[in-house]
Amino acid sequence: MPQPRIIIVGAGFAGLAAAKALKKTQAEVVLIDRTNHHVFQPLLYQVATSVLTPSHIATPIRSIFRNQKNTIVIMGEVTGVDKDQKCVFVSDADRQNVSITYDYLILATGASHSYFGHNEFAEYAPGLKSLGDAEAARNKILQAFELAEAEEDPARHRDLLTFVLVGAGPTGVEMAGALAILVRTALKSDFRRIDPTSARIVLVDAAPKILGPFSENLSKAAKQRLEKLGVEVRLGHSVDQIDAEGVIVAGERIASKTVIWTAGVAPSPAGKWLNIETDRAGRVRIQKDLTVPGHVEIFVVGDTASLDQNGKPLPGVAQVAMQQGRYAGKLIHSRIVGSPPPRAFSYFDKGSMAVVGKGFAVLQSGKVQVSGLGAWLAWAAVHLQFLATSSLRLGVFLQWIWTYVTGQRGSRLIVNHHGSDKGTRSAETPLGAAAASK
Ligand SMILES: Cc1cc2nc3c(=O)[nH]c(=O)nc-3n(C[C@H](O)[C@H](O)[C@H](O)COP(=O)(O)OP(=O)(O)OC[C@H]3O[C@@H](n4cnc5c(N)ncnc54)[C@H](O)[C@@H]3O)c2cc1C
Repeated sequence: MPQPRIIIVGAGFAGLAAAKALKKTQAEVVLIDRTNHHVFQPLLYQVATSVLTPSHIATPIRSIFRNQKNTIVIMGEVTGVDKDQKCVFVSDADRQNVSITYDYLILATGASHSYFGHNEFAEYAPGLKSLGDAEAARNKILQAFELAEAEEDPARHRDLLTFVLVGAGPTGVEMAGALAILVRTALKSDFRRIDPTSARIVLVDAAPKILGPFSENLSKAAKQRLEKLGVEVRLGHSVDQIDAEGVIVAGERIASKTVIWTAGVAPSPAGKWLNIETDRAGRVRIQKDLTVPGHVEIFVVGDTASLDQNGKPLPGVAQVAMQQGRYAGKLIHSRIVGSPPPRAFSYFDKGSMAVVGKGFAVLQSGKVQVSGLGAWLAWAAVHLQFLATSSLRLGVFLQWIWTYVTGQRGSRLIVNHHGSDKGTRSAETPLGAAAASK
């Protein structure tokens, strides 16, 4: 009798956890992702601010499953699901909508940016969700300093050295802190015409406090820390406009050439593929066993799923994704071997953390609320622990020590992926303009 086939779409936190939970299952596990790597998203901001390189936080999916013989990894983009025929459609660079049948399906396709109905902002305010996004943000940030140094008119330096981060959740706060440290340490002595420490970093959010899910005290401590690092925190007003000249907040224009979107996320189209009920954000409403109504063989987990616990929706965080992925894998395993299924899914909240600059973090776990160096050490230990492989753990650990001690950054490269590095000499730059006018 052929083995059952379990298709897992997405090799993020949820998909990886599901596949690992199926390690000993007599089944063919097919793990499909549109990239060839798993990304540790919580550290993307460190790539964007030159602390780490992309290879510090990403691993080839294939290498993670090198020794898991029942698992085949396929690089392709899933474009749809046929629930009746029990198949998914996959496209790659060579073929379109190839159908692959399944006995069990786990959709773990995560989320992407949401510009809250203002998709026109995307052109001027890239988000931070993939390795490509982080590299693009790093290019943009470093290029702003290059442009300012090449600019002879000091009046333009202010705009070129103004950085606006839209969204003061953990990503925006962590990014603002890391940027503030970057200008004060690694960049400080490297320029002649400009003073990198004069860079203006503005963090904007419509909410009345930063780090929404954290307590009032921790939010205040994080805000004070950011302000001590020179970050301007503007709360209580959403961004009305983002364009080539900067942003408009509460009627005031903040001129900036570097705006980064660190606000909302939108789930993947899994709900549309399944043609099934979603919550207001578009996440698939799942049941206590993480399956979708009417289909015991289809699981949706992680950021693209919506499940309430104690009357509140579970947050879109890595812990939820990992615990759900593991649960789905275990439940499928129990069905295949005929053992009793695990109890209904229940999320165990281990707490939340956010780092604010060097040697300072906030940590909230149950009634425990801590800020400062101790929280930062805990943050570092937890993040190292959850990196996908020991080589990543070692690489990140050594880089962090180097950065902490020397203030230098691992990767301050502006890399243009469109052929030669001509992008740095485009007509937008003073040098490019000079060349163009000759
Ligand atoms: C910048 C940033 C910082 C964060 N910081 C934290 C933090 O500090 N702590 C925390 O707990 N959480 C944090 N999060 C949230 C956390 O990363 C997510 O909750 C978690 O990644 C969700 O896991 P997932 O498996 O559902 O989705 P993801 O990890 O997003 O994985 C989805 C996978 O599906 C693949 N995929 C998507 N669509 C398709 C398709 N059509 N076909 C094939 N493959 C597809 C993607 O390539 C990806 O590999 C952060 C997120 C971001 C973006």
